[in-house]
Amino acid sequence: MVEIRNLTKIYGNHRAVDDLTITVESGQIYGFLGPNGAGKSTTMNIITGCLAATEGSVRINGFDILTQPKEAKKCIGYLPEQPPLYFDMTAREYLEFACGLKGIKGKANVKAEVEKVAAMTQIEDHLDRLIKHLSKGYKQRVGIAMAVIGDPKLVILDEPTVGLDPKQIIEIRDLIRKLGEQRTVILSSHILSEISSVCDKIMIIRGGKLVACDTPENLGRAMVGETTLSMTVDCPGKLTSVSTIEGLTSFECVPSEKEEGCSELILRYSPQLDLRREAFNAVVKDGGVILSMNEERLSLEDVFLELTAPDEAQPEETPDAEKGAEE
Ligand code: ADP
Ligand code: MG
Repeated sequence: MVEIRNLTKIYGNHRAVDDLTITVESGQIYGFLGPNGAGKSTTMNIITGCLAATEGSVRINGFDILTQPKEAKKCIGYLPEQPPLYFDMTAREYLEFACGLKGIKGKANVKAEVEKVAAMTQIEDHLDRLIKHLSKGYKQRVGIAMAVIGDPKLVILDEPTVGLDPKQIIEIRDLIRKLGEQRTVILSSHILSEISSVCDKIMIIRGGKLVACDTPENLGRAMVGETTLSMTVDCPGKLTSVSTIEGLTSFECVPSEKEEGCSELILRYSPQLDLRREAFNAVVKDGGVILSMNEERLSLEDVFLELTAPDEAQPEETPDAEKGAEE
């Protein structure tokens, strides 16, 4: 559906997008995840033809966004980070206006299209209100309704839930899931839980570079590695049973530094397992007493933080004074 090849965008001496190559397959919901300033909006603006890239290419459904912009843009519905709403229009007037921009002709066709997208985004009862009088959640729905006019194959939503209250967030997420049933959706967010609850695939970007692209499950599995269970055990004899627990990937037993005369056991196993009970029973079987037990699991949140942690201090913006000093 979307082929992004070696995409680069340079602002002054700052690489906002750095050699990004991504293939987005049809019929799935993709989440663009990254901290603020990672390059999500810049990438989305380039994909939708609102911004020119410094280098690289983007093809939408086979059409090059630069050389075949009309064909490419016909496939796209885009809700930018700042929804382009006209506050003094009613929702209906605005959507009718957007129909005109998207080439839908004839009064009856426009009316039918507005009713269709209004039903899809559940704003039927608010169509005749001025946009400035709508709540933020409803404004966002009007923006999404605008994006899906003309039934585009690809819907791109930049931070669609920012600034909404928890109830509105749940409603917009449900709406996005619904949109994703028949279309390809790309949405961005800096919130992991949001992306992992809605998306089939997560693309994590950091400093304009793609650092991971996979299903939430695989990302969790591949990156999480192992679960570590640490125990402080008081045992006069040998702890032989623990090492034979099924499913262990490694086992260590060292003298405890915290508790004199005791041992520190470190068990590692796959994150799919929970061997705390087996470990307890094995220690007891060998005549030991557990003084403490602590299981550490890496969550998807930890994986995200690890992947997006800066290698070096990345300035959010390069002040012009500094730029001048270099020259
Ligand atoms: P995100 O949407 O992930 O928060 P952006 O794509 O908005 O990130 O920005 C990526 C980087 O590019 C940021 O460091 C930002 O300051 C910089 N940037 C964005 N737009 C411009 C611009 N028009 N001029 C200069 N720098 C910009
Ligand atoms: Mg942004």
